[in-house]
Amino acid sequence: MNYIDFLKELDKKLKKYYEQHKEHLHCCPGCSSCCESGDYPLSATELEYLMQGYAKLSDNEKRIVQNNIKNIVKGGACPFLIDKKCSVYPYRPIICRTHGLAYLCKEETVKVPYCANAGLNYSDVYSDGEIVINPITENLDSISLLKNFDCGEIRNLADWLL
Ligand code: SF4
Ligand code: SF4
Repeated sequence: MNYIDFLKELDKKLKKYYEQHKEHLHCCPGCSSCCESGDYPLSATELEYLMQGYAKLSDNEKRIVQNNIKNIVKGGACPFLIDKKCSVYPYRPIICRTHGLAYLCKEETVKVPYCANAGLNYSDVYSDGEIVINPITENLDSISLLKNFDCGEIRNLADWLL
């Protein structure tokens, strides 16, 4: 399966999962704290696709992204974030698509988005680092999902761009 077909299938599944947990989720345009600090690991294939999104930006948006890249710091804001919105949303990597959900990952542990601590996703069902509802039962960890096809090397976004 190629990456674009994989994304189409993934997005279909994620739509169902976001619907399943919608009463506990707060993701919406303009909510961007998950894009303001992080490592954003992504593969060579995802980076290539992300840059296709960059190529479609206006000259002004490109200037802003380039300036953000000049000032990029490891663990900091994603340079593609402009005015609290993702400028390359249809082209964003897998980790950005799955991040808001709580899901079962390896060794039966549950991955909960960090914003549960900030009164956002799952905060109504979150206590002591755990959620009290059933998580999504598919492992949505991006590195695990990337094992489905040959996507090349995986690095954090800053390491690709620096
Ligand atoms: S994952 Fe959390 S911080 Fe990110 S958009 Fe959703 S609610 Fe906002
Ligand atoms: S690519 Fe878009 S969604 Fe992903 S971290 Fe950057 S701004 Fe956020």
